Amino acid sequence: MGQVLAGLLRLQSVETELAQVRRRLGSRRRAVRVQEKEIEQLRDVEQQTHDLIMQKRRQADELDLELKSREEEVSRLRVSLNNARTNKEYAGVLTRINTIKADNSKTEEAALKAMQEVESLNEELQQIRQRIENENKRLEEIRQASQAEVDRLNEMIEELSAKRAEAAQAVPPDELAKFERIAENYDGEAMAQIEVHGKKPPHTYVCGGCYMSLTAEHVNALQTRDEIRTCDNCGRILYLEPRQEEARTD
Ligand SMILES: [Zn+2]
Repeated sequence: MGQVLAGLLRLQSVETELAQVRRRLGSRRRAVRVQEKEIEQLRDVEQQTHDLIMQKRRQADELDLELKSREEEVSRLRVSLNNARTNKEYAGVLTRINTIKADNSKTEEAALKAMQEVESLNEELQQIRQRIENENKRLEEIRQASQAEVDRLNEMIEELSAKRAEAAQAVPPDELAKFERIAENYDGEAMAQIEVHGKKPPHTYVCGGCYMSLTAEHVNALQTRDEIRTCDNCGRILYLEPRQEEARTD
């Protein structure tokens, strides 16, 4: 194996480690975000429940006011009843009083219902607040537990980044740029080993990155030249294991 490909392979091995550590860091951060989201949703429900309570209370208050004004009217009508001069007038006032009383019992029922709703919503609100408190405690636990791991992973990333920079220096700029472009597409996996299938010639060749078949031309070229060749299907940089480099394809 020539210097360029050997340099790229060293770079790949650091890049692979780095990608693994980054994935672990990502999943730690996700765990915290998932928990934060859970709390956010509970807070939304808390706000909605709170608003609904206020709305029901206002409704109950309005119904109470309505009741009071009607009761005052009934009191006034009772005075008129006592002062009625004719039977007709008396009967008329009495009918109005009875109508108002019938309406009032409906309003009372509605007011009672609204207050009962407020009560049960208040219970719900307490339960939601208790859940928020519990989930906040869990979030704190998750944060504390992951902090040590996050610190450790960040340290590893720092060390690996230094190693990566060192390995990158051994690769010519054009090849390095190509490697980086491909690595970005494949989460750090820029290179693929050519897999040789079949015990004796003619062998078949497969890209170890995408498992599509490759022509023998790639293998022949890599056995003699130190250059970047990419898979026709996935575009990863192909390489041969050292013992494959020795084996002839013809
Ligand atoms: Zn491929």
